[in-house]
Amino acid sequence: MTKRTLEEVAQYVEKQSQNKCKVVSAKPEHKFNDLGVEVRVWNIKTDTEGAWWVVEGNSVPMNLYPQEAYYFSVDEVYSFHMGLMERMSASVEYKPEEFIEAITLGSDIAPQLFRKLKNISLLINSAIEIEDFQAIGVQSREILIELGNSIYFDEMAGANEQPQASNFKKKAELFVQFYLSGSDNSDYRSIIKKLTEATWDYACKITHSSNATFYEASTCVTLCTSLVGTYENIRQKVFDPVSQYKCRVCKSKKLNIIDDVVNVDGIVKKWFLECNECGEITEVVFEENGTNEVQYVKGVEQQ
Ligand SMILES: [Zn+2]
Repeated sequence: MTKRTLEEVAQYVEKQSQNKCKVVSAKPEHKFNDLGVEVRVWNIKTDTEGAWWVVEGNSVPMNLYPQEAYYFSVDEVYSFHMGLMERMSASVEYKPEEFIEAITLGSDIAPQLFRKLKNISLLINSAIEIEDFQAIGVQSREILIELGNSIYFDEMAGANEQPQASNFKKKAELFVQFYLSGSDNSDYRSIIKKLTEATWDYACKITHSSNATFYEASTCVTLCTSLVGTYENIRQKVFDPVSQYKCRVCKSKKLNIIDDVVNVDGIVKKWFLECNECGEITEVVFEENGTNEVQYVKGVEQQ
């Protein structure tokens, strides 16, 4: 940034007063350099609004302080201004983890994914050139491949062929089929499949794009973070199975497991859920389909 001129400083003061005053004199009273950046304090006199200190400098925002109100010396107004600017920049400091938590509503995210998401959220904050945007596309694809590896295990393919190690779309599809089976989940499966394919395609597009801007790259980061959140939510639902049931009488979801039946292999066959609202017991029965395949069994509420 070039140095501000006397006219710019005078215009700033008049504008801040909503043009109720005219600057009658403006002179740079002192220059400071002790913080490694040149900062100037201007002594400004106006016709109707009294005298002001204006502090500004290279990469330092401009602000004005009335001379009468605070009785600041030049040195004091400089210290005050720099302290204030430091505090303002600390309070708006960008924290990538907060960005991720906001998008995923604080879902637990596998540490290796969280670390990589933090990386692209940091990268986007300083991305300027096409190469920076392409690098975000590359890292986003790597995150999705890592997501595939994190959510997938071999049994999800059943009797079918194993997907290739980096085939994120296939692994994601098998994961969804495994945990969100049944006709009541068919809409979710189809929507999540579209989200997954669109996010992957978007990341690939950014990787090779020669005309992407900050805004496309930013969308890529948001989509990618959001998709990780989507899959972590499915995983958390599996580990929070009671969330899937409701009281057979009053339909409340405030349920506690009060008893269970376990077979000789230690596999749960039945749950008894007590309703916090009406006290009724809902029985949930887990039945396997009789094949030897590893499968995720969702219990069925008995009416
Ligand atoms: Zn109830």
